[in-house]
Amino acid sequence: MDRIIATTTSAALQGAGGDLTRDSTTWLRNWRWLVAVLAVLLALTLWQTVRWSRAVALDELRDSGARSLRLVLAGLQSELEKYEFLPRLLAQDTQIIGLLTATPDAHRTATVNSYLERVNESAGAADTYVMDHAGFTVAASNWASETSFMGQNFAFRPYFQAAMRGASGRYFALGTTSMRRGYYFAQPVLLGGEVLGAAVVKISIDRIEQAWENAPFAVVVTDRHGVVFSTNRPHWRYRTLQPLPEQTLNMIYASKQYVDRRLAALPVVSSRPHHSGGALITVLETVAAAGAESDAAAKKVTYLTQNGVMPEHQWRVHVWMDTSSVQQRVAIAVALVTLGFMILALTGVYLIQRRHRVQMELAHQQQVEDTLRRARDQLERRVEERTRELVDTNKRLRREIGERRRAENELREAQHELVQAAKLAALGQLSAGITHELNQPLAAILSYAQNAQAFLDRERYGDARSNLGIISELTERMARLTGHLKSFARKTDNVSSQFSVNEVLDNALRLLVARLRNDCVELTRSCLATDDTVTGDPIRLEQVFVNLLKNAIDAMEENKPRQLKVDIQRQDSSLVVDVTDSGPGIPEAVMSKLFDPFITTKPVGSGLGLGLSISYSIVSDMGGTIEASNQSEGGARFRVVLPATGEDHGRG
Ligand code: ADP
Repeated sequence: MDRIIATTTSAALQGAGGDLTRDSTTWLRNWRWLVAVLAVLLALTLWQTVRWSRAVALDELRDSGARSLRLVLAGLQSELEKYEFLPRLLAQDTQIIGLLTATPDAHRTATVNSYLERVNESAGAADTYVMDHAGFTVAASNWASETSFMGQNFAFRPYFQAAMRGASGRYFALGTTSMRRGYYFAQPVLLGGEVLGAAVVKISIDRIEQAWENAPFAVVVTDRHGVVFSTNRPHWRYRTLQPLPEQTLNMIYASKQYVDRRLAALPVVSSRPHHSGGALITVLETVAAAGAESDAAAKKVTYLTQNGVMPEHQWRVHVWMDTSSVQQRVAIAVALVTLGFMILALTGVYLIQRRHRVQMELAHQQQVEDTLRRARDQLERRVEERTRELVDTNKRLRREIGERRRAENELREAQHELVQAAKLAALGQLSAGITHELNQPLAAILSYAQNAQAFLDRERYGDARSNLGIISELTERMARLTGHLKSFARKTDNVSSQFSVNEVLDNALRLLVARLRNDCVELTRSCLATDDTVTGDPIRLEQVFVNLLKNAIDAMEENKPRQLKVDIQRQDSSLVVDVTDSGPGIPEAVMSKLFDPFITTKPVGSGLGLGLSISYSIVSDMGGTIEASNQSEGGARFRVVLPATGEDHGRG
C-alpha cells in the first residue's frame, strides 16, 4: 500500500511539475513583454528627464547669466561714469581755454601738459589731452612719452568730430599710436559759443577687462556694428558676432577705429533663440593646446547668451554662459534616473519574481497536500475495506472455531465413548479370567463356611473362628477386585491428577492375573525404587497397560515358554515402561500402521483393532510417546515414555 501511495504521489508531483513548467514558459513570455515595456518606459522617462533637466539647468544658467549680466553692466557703467565728468571739467579749465585761444607758447604748453599729466595720473586714465579745432593735439599727459600724442592730428576720430559739433563724444578705438584699445570721452572746449577744441580723456579697456578676467562666463562687449572690442576671451577680440556687409566693413576700415585689424566673424555654427530672450549659440572654439585655428583642432561649445545695451555708449554687453554644465547636469540626471529606474525595475522584478515564486510554491504545496489528502483518503478507504474484511474473516474464524470446538468436543466425546467401549471390550475379553478370579475365593468361602458350621457343631470354636477369619480375608480380596473392576469400568471424565505409575501397573496386572496364571505366563516385573508419579487420568493409563499386557499375552498364546517382562525405570525426566513378550513379534504388514484404528490380525470377535490406537491417544494426551519394535531374539517390545512429575530420587 505504501508503494501505491508513493507511486500516486510521485505521479501527482510529476503533474505538478508539468504545471510548473507551463507556468515558467508563460512567465518567460510575460517576462519578455515586461522587459519591452520597461525599455519603452525607460526611454520615455529618459527623454522627459533630458528635456526637463535641460530646461531646468538652462533656466538656472539663464538666471545666473542674467545676474552676471546685471553685475557686468553695473560694473561697466560705474567704471565709465567715473570718467564722464573729467573732460567736462577740463573743458572749462582756464589754462586749457587759454592754451587754445593764445598763440602757442612753450611755457603755457608745458604747464598744461604737466597739469594734464597730474590729472591723468590722479584719475587713473590712460591718456588725457587737448586738441585744437583742427584736430591737433596741443597738450597731452603723455607729452614726455616716445609715443606722445603731441602734435598728432586725430581729426578723423568721430569723438573729435562730435566735440566739434558741440556735443560730447564717446568712442572706442584702437590707439593708432599706442596700439592699445581705448575708450575716449571728448568734450568741446567752448568760449562764447565757439568750439575752440576738445578736451579728451582716454581710458584703457584693458583695465576694465581685468574685472572679468577670471569670470566663469564669457563677457563680450560689442559696438553698434556688432564688433567685439572688449572681452575676457582674447581670441574673440575684433571678431564680429555675425558677418558684416562689405560696405559696413569698408566704412569701419576707413575710420581706422580698429587701425588695420581685419574683422572676421566669430565661427558660429548655429544660433537659435532661447525662450529667456537670449540665444543658444554654438561656436567652434580653438583648442588652446592646438595653437592654430583649424577645424580639426576646434571643438563646438554652446553658450546661452544674454545681452544688455548701454545706449549712451552704443555698446551692447553680452554674457555668454557655457552650457557644458547643462550637459553634465543632464548626464547626471539621466544617470540618476537610469539608476533609480534600474533599482525600481529590479525591485519590481524581484518582487514580481518573489510573488511568482511564492505562488508557485503555494500551488505546488497545495498540489502536494491534495495528493497526500487523496492518498490518505485512499489509504483510509483501504484500511476500512481491510478492517471490514478482517472483521468478516474474524467472525468467520470465530464461527469456524466454534464449529471446530463443537466438532472437537463431539470428537472428544466420541473418543471417550470409544475409549470406554474399548475398555469395556477389553474387560469383556478378560471377563472369563476375572470371573474365575472371583469364583475361586467364592468356592473357598463356601468351603470354609461349611467347615466353620461343622466346627461350631463340634464346638471347635477356635477352628470355626479361624475359618471365619479366612472367609473375611477372601471377601475383602473379592471386594477389592470388584471395587477395582467397578472403578476401571467406570466412565471417566479424563480428569487429570498426579499418581504413581507403579500402582497403575499393579492394578492392570491384577485384572490380568487370571490370564497370566491360566496361560502359564512367566511374569518378570521390575518396580521403581521411588514413588515417581506422572500426571493424567490413572484409569486411562491403566487401560493402556491392560491393552499392552493383554496383546502380549494374546501374542504368546501359540508360543512357549511364555515370558512377559514389565520393566519400569526412570530416565532423566521421564518414566520409561517397557512391556516385552516372547511372542512372534509384530507382523511386518501391520508394523507401519500399528497405531491406526481398526488394524488387527486377531480373529473376528477377538479384537477390534482399537487398543493400540486408543493407547496412542491416551499417552499423547499425557505428553508422552509410545512406540513398538520387534526384539532381535524374538518377541515384541512396547515402550511407553511419560514425563515424570515426581521427585527424581534415583534410577529405577
Ligand atoms: P486388537 O488387540 O483388537 O487386535 P490392538 O490395536 O490392540 O487391537 O492390536 C492390533 C494388532 O497389533 C494386533 O491384532 C496384533 O496383530 C498386533 N499386536 C499387538 N500387540 C502385539 C504383540 N505383543 N505381539 C505381536 N503382535 C501384536
